[in-house]
Amino acid sequence: MKLIFLGAPGSGKGTYATRVAPAIGVPQISTGDIFREHLKNNTEIGKKIKSIMESGNLVPDEVVMEIVKDRLKKDDVKKGFIFDGFPRTLEQAEEFGKITSVDAVVNLVVPEKIIIDRLTSRRVCEKCGSIFNIMSMKPKEEGKCDKCGGKLIQRKDDTLEVIMDRLNVYKKQTQPLIDYYRKKGLIIDIVNDNPNASPEQVLPRILEKLKNIQTK
Ligand SMILES: [Zn+2]
Repeated sequence: MKLIFLGAPGSGKGTYATRVAPAIGVPQISTGDIFREHLKNNTEIGKKIKSIMESGNLVPDEVVMEIVKDRLKKDDVKKGFIFDGFPRTLEQAEEFGKITSVDAVVNLVVPEKIIIDRLTSRRVCEKCGSIFNIMSMKPKEEGKCDKCGGKLIQRKDDTLEVIMDRLNVYKKQTQPLIDYYRKKGLIIDIVNDNPNASPEQVLPRILEKLKNIQTK
């Protein structure tokens, strides 16, 4: 099955993609992870990405497509894939359509208020990087990491201002993408408006919907 997962930052997209992939026997492909891998191994593509990012620009579509095409050559995608974090723009989706078909696009819909609450209450350990949440995953002692006793801080990325900004960018970029796939009849909306729903509760709903998908 060939799937794409869409969802705003804080929607749990990555979490669900990671769990659905083994359940249906396909690899989860995160272009972000591939970028980081190239950077770490200092490959030709890695060097290219590094200089683009250092100049403050977004990685251009042609480089993203190069990475995606390269990834689709591997044997493990014969039974399908879940793309997470790609395509990000309508242009990328159109290019992607030229190299492979897509069976469904899972669109995780989470109300903005829930996303904001979830992300602004996230705290990370300064020392070991463990993640806590002052609403849903409280540390035993306030402000202190359970694992190493380090100080818990709020990342700059998790402040209200930055989150609003990211959500607005996401909406602007992704709406045309959702429209594009909806017109093709490929969108599966998974609405998650219960702030306390665990991934274990949401996952079966996604798998149930995928049962009815015809693979091409
Ligand atoms: Zn720690």
